[in-house]
Amino acid sequence: MKSFDYHEPASLAEASALLAELGKDASIIAGGTDLLVELKEELRSALHVVNIKKIPGLGDFAYDPENGLRFGALVTVREIETSPVVIRNYPNLAKAASLLGSVQVRNRATVMGNICRASPSADTIPPLIADCASLTVFNGGGERRILLDELFTGPGRTVLVPGDIVTGIALPAPRATSGKAYIKHGRRKAMELATVGVAVSLEHEAGTCSEIRIALGAVAPTVIRARRTEALLRGRRIDPALLAEAAESAMQESAPIGNVRASAAYRREMVGVLTRRAIGHAMGGAQ
Ligand SMILES: Cc1cc2nc3c(=O)[nH]c(=O)nc-3n(C[C@H](O)[C@H](O)[C@H](O)COP(=O)(O)OP(=O)(O)OC[C@H]3O[C@@H](n4cnc5c(N)ncnc54)[C@H](O)[C@@H]3O)c2cc1C
Repeated sequence: MKSFDYHEPASLAEASALLAELGKDASIIAGGTDLLVELKEELRSALHVVNIKKIPGLGDFAYDPENGLRFGALVTVREIETSPVVIRNYPNLAKAASLLGSVQVRNRATVMGNICRASPSADTIPPLIADCASLTVFNGGGERRILLDELFTGPGRTVLVPGDIVTGIALPAPRATSGKAYIKHGRRKAMELATVGVAVSLEHEAGTCSEIRIALGAVAPTVIRARRTEALLRGRRIDPALLAEAAESAMQESAPIGNVRASAAYRREMVGVLTRRAIGHAMGGAQ
């Protein structure tokens, strides 16, 4: 690994000023489970590494039934996986967290690091997009809000600029009519990146879907919404014929590549299978 200067700012203002000054030469480190591997394997270079773990307030976690879930940049994947509040209200996110790497990795890895790495196969991004998550970003003296949906510009690329620190994430509260699911498909059951990941978050009553968001992972340069499929399902009674149509539509919306994990054709096929299955799970039964 090439040597780098290590910084441990004590406040957001200090960290942001440092990151703005150092520009592209600096990287934030949180859990380091992506960054350190990339630096070690020289897939990425950084002359400066800025640890945000000494900054107070970034480990906050709060839920209330009106405003939903909010948590900070230092909340780990394991905390999300094991939180009774998340398991009850956001089972798709809890499931995604439980499937990320190993317990050791999940104890260090942050959800924000998983998001900011901007991998198309990141496990937590599809359920968070399906759940309409938004980020709070600090830069200099101010904060701005970014819909998670609008963060990514390509594999490993985001709209974030030097000096930006993502400080927190917010998800709206689910309703009694909400249903959620995340299905990860890989070659192994554990320690495996997603070949395809499908997250669904919907509202339903008496078999009719009034609202739905579908996020597809690992089948395009970024995690994507299957917007045409969502439109097809909105306001309709879910039955096997409509599910078959939705599966076909989601396949058309995906743009997978082939690589060592799977061919493009296989990935596209699995988008159909998993979309149908995830909608069935979110509706409350296997369809
Ligand atoms: C063995 C192993 C298995 C893995 N398996 C999986 C898997 O199954 N699924 C999966 O999705 N991932 C997997 N990962 C990837 C990794 O664990 C996750 O992406 C992790 O959540 C990253 O979080 P971190 O805190 O370690 O991020 P770091 O490595 O500290 O940072 C990752 C990136 O995000 C940036 N960053 C971090 N925090 C912020 C912030 N607050 N604001 C702005 N930028 C920030 C960093 O600069 C860096 O670019 C695996 C990794 C390993 C080593």
